Amino acid sequence: MLTLRRFPLLYTPLRRLANVSLPHKFKLAVGGCPNNCVKPNLNDVGVIGQRLPEPELSKCRGCKVCQIEKLCPVKAASVKDGKLVIDPEICNHCGRCVTKCPFHALDEGTYGYKIYIGGRWGKKVAEGRPLSKIFTTEQEVIDTVEKAILFFRDEGISGERFADTVARLGFDYVEDKLLNGKLDKEAVMKKTVVGGATC
Ligand code: SF4
Ligand code: SF4
Repeated sequence: MLTLRRFPLLYTPLRRLANVSLPHKFKLAVGGCPNNCVKPNLNDVGVIGQRLPEPELSKCRGCKVCQIEKLCPVKAASVKDGKLVIDPEICNHCGRCVTKCPFHALDEGTYGYKIYIGGRWGKKVAEGRPLSKIFTTEQEVIDTVEKAILFFRDEGISGERFADTVARLGFDYVEDKLLNGKLDKEAVMKKTVVGGATC
């Protein structure tokens, strides 16, 4: 099972944005694995730890009872034509299968992070959607979360939650801004933004 012992490092660089005015409150949740215990996808931004399995097919013997197929909780693994196949559409990158093949066909897995945007919980509920990229460094995650906060400050309307901003502007637009856009941080920080939280 994936653990993210160094994950608290995320919070330190983001603390500098703690007192910045935003159009509404902004919640960030971090979960160590896709089991979703703290429901990161029901927050303005949610980070979920990932471990992407990397099978070494030359070592796969196509066993009658594949241990990976047996243990995968979402049935993403199977044996086809004598080799292990992991369906990328189903695998949620929980990492549970890494090191579990007795013949060492799956000893490696890359650690990473998935970022959800636009979730919320409370009077209104919205399920966040994941950005299409799997992030592989903490710095990338920090930069993207910071960008999301600054983007909300820049394009959010006073009184609306980030979920509403994403719905109003469209997920694809916001995703493109977060993954490819450049934000003039200094200009955004100079803006006068009136917070509109009405809990
Ligand atoms: S992944 Fe391992 S357990 Fe599964 S079929 Fe291949 S060798 Fe056998
Ligand atoms: S990482 Fe998790 S979901 Fe993906 S194949 Fe392995 S056990 Fe299944």
